[in-house]
Amino acid sequence: MPPHPLDDDVQLNFTYPLYKHETNAWLSSTEAFVRGVFACGKGADKKVQARVKAIFGYTPEDGYLVICDRTLFCPTGEQLCDLGLIHSHYSTPEEGPNTVFTVQDVRKKLTDEVYDHFGLYEPGVVYHLGTFEPSHVPFRVHQAVMQQIDPERRLLHSRTHAAGHLIAVAVQRLHLRGALSGDLTFNGVDRSPNLVVELGGMLDRKHRQAKRDIQREINEIISKNVRLETRRWNWQEALERGVRLPPKSETTIELMRVITLEGNEGLYLCGAPFVANTGVVGRVQIKKLTVHKKEEVTRIEYSISQNAP
Ligand SMILES: [Zn+2]
Repeated sequence: MPPHPLDDDVQLNFTYPLYKHETNAWLSSTEAFVRGVFACGKGADKKVQARVKAIFGYTPEDGYLVICDRTLFCPTGEQLCDLGLIHSHYSTPEEGPNTVFTVQDVRKKLTDEVYDHFGLYEPGVVYHLGTFEPSHVPFRVHQAVMQQIDPERRLLHSRTHAAGHLIAVAVQRLHLRGALSGDLTFNGVDRSPNLVVELGGMLDRKHRQAKRDIQREINEIISKNVRLETRRWNWQEALERGVRLPPKSETTIELMRVITLEGNEGLYLCGAPFVANTGVVGRVQIKKLTVHKKEEVTRIEYSISQNAP
């Protein structure tokens, strides 16, 4: 049996992550080229259905999987995915686009599951799952299309995600000043059921006081409206600049994507679209701090204001 195009076609094995480039990340629309279109609802190819189930955890009734050569749509990972539209070019402005695809979910299939999130040109495919308007003909392979994300949703999720990283920066600052003991490393931001930053290691101070200190520190980081910058460093460069890195043996990434605060402070790895200044994050509230002795982690629950400042 010949290999299935989902596994065999080289054009379906990589999507260029436009959402990771600071110059492109905040565009709300861009042109892209379709590389694959697969029906995945009832009666569809079993292999496609199985792939969709494995990646998304479900298969929608009338869904299609669309793969492009590049994408502005950030897939769900540490940050919830972008939603929006992919549409064909307008034939005439009066006519409007003749095919509209509504993106309902976006995921990425990584080839290096754990640390690809931090790479810049990481391998992997971004899958857009959604539906075509009932009377519209699905895209053709190689067709030029426009991708359009919902900018408000992007902003909310970027603020949420950035807040998690900045809480970790606040903890690091307090630790460096000797105001918090316990050497904590940033493990990640979890969204469910509540927003939680997980730090590897245990705080060994009175929790109530630590919570107040972290709240004060994060307030300061945000009120100073510090610029956030994206750098691309290889392993050695990142190591020399004091970035906390996963074991080298666990990643094949050439260039790491590192976010810094002005003056190279608060260095950390991140693969999500990022806000330009800390002030954009708005009010962050530290809600709960718990130390888990068995797992040797500290979890900080937080919330952000719904509206951007
Ligand atoms: Zn991140």
